[in-house]
Amino acid sequence: MTQKTQASRLDAIVIGAGFGGLYALYELRRQGFDVLLLERAPGVGGTWYWNCYPGARVDVYGIEYSYSFSDEIQQEWDWSEVMPTQPELERYLNFVTDRLDLRRDIRFSTTVTAARFDEEAGVWSVEADTGERFTAQFVVAATGCLSAPLAPNIRGVEAFSGDTLITSTFPREGYDFRGKRVAVVGTGSSGVQAIPIVAEQASSLHVFQRSAAFTRPAGNRPMGRDEMDAIKASYPDLRRRLAETFTGTIHVGAITVEDIPTDERILTASPEKIRRKVAEDGWSAPWGWYDAFVDPAANKAAVALYGDLVRGVVQDPDVAESLVPTYPLGCKRPIYDTGYFATFNRDNVTLVDLRKEPIDRVTPDGIETAAQKYNFDVIVYATGFDAITGALTRIDIRGRDDVSLKARWLDDARAYLGLQSHGFPNLFMVNGPGSPSVHINVVAAVEHHVQIIADLMVHMAKNDKTTVEPDVEAEIGWAERVDSLVTGTIRASDDCNSWYLGSNVAGKRRKYLTFVGGQVAYRQACDELVNGGYIGFVFD
Ligand code: NAP
Repeated sequence: MTQKTQASRLDAIVIGAGFGGLYALYELRRQGFDVLLLERAPGVGGTWYWNCYPGARVDVYGIEYSYSFSDEIQQEWDWSEVMPTQPELERYLNFVTDRLDLRRDIRFSTTVTAARFDEEAGVWSVEADTGERFTAQFVVAATGCLSAPLAPNIRGVEAFSGDTLITSTFPREGYDFRGKRVAVVGTGSSGVQAIPIVAEQASSLHVFQRSAAFTRPAGNRPMGRDEMDAIKASYPDLRRRLAETFTGTIHVGAITVEDIPTDERILTASPEKIRRKVAEDGWSAPWGWYDAFVDPAANKAAVALYGDLVRGVVQDPDVAESLVPTYPLGCKRPIYDTGYFATFNRDNVTLVDLRKEPIDRVTPDGIETAAQKYNFDVIVYATGFDAITGALTRIDIRGRDDVSLKARWLDDARAYLGLQSHGFPNLFMVNGPGSPSVHINVVAAVEHHVQIIADLMVHMAKNDKTTVEPDVEAEIGWAERVDSLVTGTIRASDDCNSWYLGSNVAGKRRKYLTFVGGQVAYRQACDELVNGGYIGFVFD
């Protein structure tokens, strides 16, 4: 139990005990700051605490999606699979927490509800749902990019008399689907991971699909002892190589960017060439064409190729047709699965194509679509998140002149380098809007952000500065740079809807929220601005 109380004036409050917040607590404490971490959950993990649905696992390699700042930690921890499950990631974060003695400065089961900047005193007053109020010079919001669950926007959800489950707040004790008639609504990464496992347990499973998924086999496998030992012996080299890549990953995964030669063009490729690519690259073949990402006609051809792969697995031609996406490849985040399409060959699994029969409402007995009524014992919603900005806009954050961050971001969600917004002095974001965050290895991204924040705080202490915030022109300039990288691309095309664009949230302004220029370009920009004397930041 922490000794810190509301009476203490702290140097910093960190919000969130996920990868970002735990490292922020460690690093700021190491730099001599008095820090308290406030966490909504009763345990550490952040996203990896809450998303404990069956099948949850990371979609990049664990040896890459793990802390690099401590060689002791990477030498002491063994991964049992190449793409670890949620329980293993949660165990890892608990191990790190204890190894670094972080628990004593974490206040669990404490949800931050409001934060106000007191201009006169130059401090933040942070309120929690426990009724406590904490005061700190700095707030580090490590609140996560995919941590604000989206309630299913369907009429009658509360009317259902069976069990309602949400993947992002799944029961910690698990759920026994055996003998149950189950519905899963949503076929993004969470739904696609959960569906094959639920299908194995449930007496029947209906999958309610609005947009079909671009998913391919994860190829997960156990991590052998020899392989783990070899990685441990060469971790410094692995980390150095990771730092040089576009996404901060080397092995295949959801954020891997294929380096496609410009002459690999699906529109001019012979049938033999396409067959060869499928034979060599398997499910990744549709992603292997340069023109697919610059020419809509080529993109359609790549989608057609993906459709051929789906039809090769799914036996019922109508079901297969429904499982082929009708939006561009490369628009939504790619998904990695374990046995997803084969699940639709099971006798107990039914696909409900919401493009043909939209959901009308949830009833006490189940789900009613435009075509028929379905009865269930349990409905699982895998309906996603208010991504990137949602965790912060759910806190009543007031900066200078009592300006609300939520109101400001409704108009235009901007943060200089994804770190700070003008008018909100000493409020730092880990992976805020305008940073590469979800487009690169998120663990590497949070380590980088925390390092910048810690250095900035040390710089201020040394130079007797009490506040820092971005200059508004610098912030606008950065936002324009972020925009310029997606404007005119498939990611932002009119026929693309994704949580990257915020278009999955009613009332959220459609805008691409992350920097897609890669981690190397982002780090270079940060180095130039920070090492150039904190260009764009205003100190007082
Ligand atoms: P998501 O990708 O936003 O998927 C939500 C799904 O729910 C979509 O299929 C969406 O359809 C559907 N949906 C939403 N509202 C609906 C409604 N009212 N009626 C019917 N369908 C509805 O969310 P997610 O699957 O939780 O994944 C979000 C992100 O979290 C991923 O992209 C990934 O970055 C991360 N994640 C990662 C992992 C991993 O590492 N393996 C696992 C899970 C999640 P539309 O597409 O038509 O909107």
